Amino acid sequence: MITEINDIFTEINDLWMRKISVARVFSHLLPLTSYLFISLLLLSSCGLRKQTATNDNAVSAQPVGPAFCADSAYAFCEAQCDFGPRTMNSQAHDDCGAWIMEKFKSYGMSVTPQQTLLKGYDGTMLRATNIIASYRPELTDRILICAHWDSRPWADNDPDEANHRKPVLAANDGASGVAVMLELARLLREYGGAGARGHENTSAADTSRATSASDSILAPPHLRTPAPPLTLGVDFICFDAEDWGTPQWDDTPSDGDTWALGAQYWAANPHVDGYTARYGILLDMVGGQGAQFYQEQQSLQYARSIVDKVWRASQVVGFGSFFPSREGVGITDDHLPVNRVAKIPCIDIIPYYPDCPQSSFGPTWHTVNDDMAHIDRNTLQAVGQTLIQVLWSE
Ligand SMILES: [Zn+2]
Repeated sequence: MITEINDIFTEINDLWMRKISVARVFSHLLPLTSYLFISLLLLSSCGLRKQTATNDNAVSAQPVGPAFCADSAYAFCEAQCDFGPRTMNSQAHDDCGAWIMEKFKSYGMSVTPQQTLLKGYDGTMLRATNIIASYRPELTDRILICAHWDSRPWADNDPDEANHRKPVLAANDGASGVAVMLELARLLREYGGAGARGHENTSAADTSRATSASDSILAPPHLRTPAPPLTLGVDFICFDAEDWGTPQWDDTPSDGDTWALGAQYWAANPHVDGYTARYGILLDMVGGQGAQFYQEQQSLQYARSIVDKVWRASQVVGFGSFFPSREGVGITDDHLPVNRVAKIPCIDIIPYYPDCPQSSFGPTWHTVNDDMAHIDRNTLQAVGQTLIQVLWSE
């Protein structure tokens, strides 16, 4: 993904800019003003809207659902990296794709590989596979959770120029999002309720690889509560060919369209005719050390109520410090075609490091250091438990 500066948004109209301004004013006022005052203001000025937003944003005030297992997610992340960089058209890519599909199938998901040829910025034809794994595909009421699974072929943001044409292992920028989705699938199978497929294949092997780790996990112990059955379907989409965007060392003029190729294809050609979902949540780089997930601008533009819902859920499960209620930058990422073409409101959970000189995406972004040594179980836990809270509150 690449950063878009506010000034180059061509699709933000004047009306939207006014909304941003109002939101900024409110966010600055909030710490100085009582909640009562704000509530009265909202109720008197836009009562109907408030009511709608409340319904959209319903999140249980108490932790609900199973405990997300960060060790398991960490092991899923590591297993992908063990294939090597999953760059387009490579054997490691194809082997890892087969592994991802098998894992989702083992958790009872209905798996659809969507294969196609996509043209990269440099004319390279990319053998791409979007992997769609569906929990209870028979239900029409659905939530979409997505991440990209390919690795960037060039570490073009590495501090050492000698690495600029080497591939990225993509532990964070790729594997982490898929890892969180796989752990969610495992938990849906076990705790989803009516849709659970039994426990005959459930294995502790998923966590055995990483349980010896000494890292302290921040999971609040009270989260291991009986989970109410879910009454909605969930689609996990692993988008391919996200990270073949024009490298910094290439002079080819380009726009954001060279990124998110798999998501662009899926949005125009969904795996099910007329596919829709209540909303979507994109996970990108959700395992990095020191990550904080500011509210990404495009998410606020297209799906503000979902941002509010997810950020509130993070507070309920005790991980609010990972999700500051502050606006970040706008990102070109897989959520854009989901919003603009598939017309499904979709947010992006993506870190923002305002003080990192290497990149606002963090020190390992598009470098050869994006490896397991820089993955933090606590970040995986914060994101995973927040998503559990969102799903089990619906
Ligand atoms: Zn990337």
